[in-house]
Amino acid sequence: MTDHHHRQLMQIYARFQAEAKPFMSAAACAEGCAYCCRAAGRIDATTQEGLVIQTAIAQLPKSQRRAVEKRLRREVRQREQGHIVACPFLQKNDTCQIYPVRPFSCRRVYSLHRCREGAPPRLHRQVMALADAAIEALRQCDPNGYSGHLSYILHMLTEQRFRDIYLTGGFAPEAVMAFGRSHQISINRKMPVAGFPGRPPKEV
Ligand code: SF4
Repeated sequence: MTDHHHRQLMQIYARFQAEAKPFMSAAACAEGCAYCCRAAGRIDATTQEGLVIQTAIAQLPKSQRRAVEKRLRREVRQREQGHIVACPFLQKNDTCQIYPVRPFSCRRVYSLHRCREGAPPRLHRQVMALADAAIEALRQCDPNGYSGHLSYILHMLTEQRFRDIYLTGGFAPEAVMAFGRSHQISINRKMPVAGFPGRPPKEV
């Protein structure tokens, strides 16, 4: 991950934020509501976003880093058993431990009503279209990469064989085929146009 790649991501986030702002200003979201972080089901990220987050984790104090790595491992195990669990980066006070580098999936979500069980986020269809365009841009700037649930992507990035290929610009999907298939990981250059494969929020 070069500074150039990091800047590219931030530019995509900033453009989406600017274009979606007129709609998002109608959001009912309030500080301390972590509904999306607890009940989203999956939080998608590209490998490039995962690298930025991995760098942020590496810069945490040792005890925090170990704690977050432990939560990530536990979350992967729980998801593999079919449980929906809260994001490992959600802190006890319901704030995000990696807020400045959170993935696009977290940036795009808001809701026009206060969410609760049975009433998931509801947002404007115009913002859904803007988000699809941003996801397309994210995967285009990571053509040798992958997309999937955040902790699975972070797990892939800790696998030395995968890292060695990916970080040197290689593209060898066979190296992650078994994990990718069983964990619904998509190849960026082959993803459908309609955004991340995860369940989208409802539109109005
Ligand atoms: S990364 Fe942060 S904002 Fe995104 S789901 Fe996790 S805690 Fe919430």
